[in-house]
Amino acid sequence: MRIRNIFSLSSQLVAAVLFGSVLTGVPSGQALAQGKDPEMAIKKFDRNGDGKVSRKEWKRDPATFEEIDTDGDGFLTVEEFKARFSSGEKSAKKESRRKKSGGDGKDGGNIISKDDLAPVTFKGFKRKPDSRAQQIELGLLETNLIPVYPDDVYCPKIDHIFGEPWRGPVPNRWHSGGDIPSSWDDPIHAMADGVVIAKFDSGFRGIQVILQHAPEDTGLDVWVYTLYSHFRTMPEVAIGQRVRMGEYLGPNGKTGVPGKKREPHLHLTIMFAATPKYALLVNEKGSLMIPLDGYFAGPLALMRRKMPIDTHSMRALREQERRVIIAYKKESGAIVPPDAKIIWPFTCR
Ligand SMILES: [Zn+2]
Repeated sequence: MRIRNIFSLSSQLVAAVLFGSVLTGVPSGQALAQGKDPEMAIKKFDRNGDGKVSRKEWKRDPATFEEIDTDGDGFLTVEEFKARFSSGEKSAKKESRRKKSGGDGKDGGNIISKDDLAPVTFKGFKRKPDSRAQQIELGLLETNLIPVYPDDVYCPKIDHIFGEPWRGPVPNRWHSGGDIPSSWDDPIHAMADGVVIAKFDSGFRGIQVILQHAPEDTGLDVWVYTLYSHFRTMPEVAIGQRVRMGEYLGPNGKTGVPGKKREPHLHLTIMFAATPKYALLVNEKGSLMIPLDGYFAGPLALMRRKMPIDTHSMRALREQERRVIIAYKKESGAIVPPDAKIIWPFTCR
């Protein structure tokens, strides 16, 4: 197995926990709140004088940006700063997030710096053309899994699979997820219980939501991330919010899709790691979430609903083990099979 023994990284794990607690103590929110003047906060960051703060102008940690940007439009306004300052500063915010996320309070403490990422992780997830070796190490190649969709109901199906050469306009890129075409505004649902850790509308892939799923959410022994992109409009779920499997996230669309020919579709990327730590990178091209010592997984590998899910193990499966039966939600709300903890992101009807 090429995956670097994620269960025997105890020393790295300890280091991650130690560093994580130091790094996430960045006091940007508190420093801002001390000023308590929304106008001043805007002035401090607003370079182009449009009266609001873009992601590019923001010089503090991305998580704080996402927290303040409650409507998720990618800009911080006077109203949003006001709401931030009047909410009783960070402790109240944390408390409300803890309530929303089901009580463990851990979701707010998992963000690390990109400097904590191993070079292979950073290069592989950035997916620059010269990083194909790293991408392969992280599992970005075809899994050879075969989906078995139900035959009594219709499920929107993957047409552009994970790990094959990307069909978009840039050469030497490999598809980091599976594309599932469906009609405009078809509801996209959370594939498992989890927490919303990011949502943004910028750069490539348009409007995106990222969920983090704890091992107890999925029944898998790893932390899983499901990334949904190309929503037609910004989903109303909030950062830090706990969502349930099958819960509505937002409408299908094609924001960020290059070229006019491609129909609306969900681009679905799956990642996983041994710990819940992750970095959020923000630049003018968009936002990128990278799990600490994380890997890509194919959507069908996740739909196996059992370990392992890493690509190199999938490619080593015998032929009869490669068929993956898709679990799903019916329009009635019934889950098939009823004990599934991970389901298809579109309803089957
Ligand atoms: Zn895609």
